[in-house]
Amino acid sequence: MILNMDGREIFIDCPAYIPKMLADNNKNGEGKVTIDRYKELIITHMHADHVGGVEELAYWQYFKTENPIKLYAPKWLLQDLWTHLRTAMEESARGDGGLASMDWFFEPIPLQDKHDFGGFTVETHVTKHFPRTVAYMFDFGNFKFGYSSDTGFDRNLIEWLDRADVILHECRFGPTNVLGGDLNTLHSSIADMLTLPESFQRKTHLYHYADDTFDDDPLKPNYEIGHYRLLVQNKTLKLL
Ligand SMILES: [Zn+2]
Repeated sequence: MILNMDGREIFIDCPAYIPKMLADNNKNGEGKVTIDRYKELIITHMHADHVGGVEELAYWQYFKTENPIKLYAPKWLLQDLWTHLRTAMEESARGDGGLASMDWFFEPIPLQDKHDFGGFTVETHVTKHFPRTVAYMFDFGNFKFGYSSDTGFDRNLIEWLDRADVILHECRFGPTNVLGGDLNTLHSSIADMLTLPESFQRKTHLYHYADDTFDDDPLKPNYEIGHYRLLVQNKTLKLL
């Protein structure tokens, strides 16, 4: 996802096959996006659909630009990310035979509490998901925007998010007992989300749902979604 604030763009997470994703967006989306727009990136957790593209982004930007991408996450998550990438990227094209570290590819920025981004702040909250995952609250002073990241249904997180004017919350439609496991332990079912008050539902857009959640018209989902709306792929949501 891209957050655009008066022209400043912050990307949230980076799934694998970025060129394929952007090609699809540029064919079907409302606005074109090129890979050189990745200048600031916030990471939520280590699942591949959220960080699988960081390595390709690293190599792309290393060979294409002198300006490293700013990579934001709590310090422990930056460490986890480099642990994951290290074996693929430590031996590199430095040229002097030395080993590369994360800051050779990115400008890693460990998030402080109420991190000052210059013009707005960002708070973090650990969600009910594994591996450890971070939700984000963007505070623009007169407007707050909450982003659940991946999470099981968690009333503490809901309360933390409810301070926001607009919320994006993940949601799982369909059966939750699948493949011998219970998806409720790490994702939020629509049944649980529908127990929340109408005021919360009206300011919340659901995302991270499966492709079969609607057929042609996202305004007509294949499920009862109460007063929620769906966040739609390749479309722009105006927050203000
Ligand atoms: Zn996940």
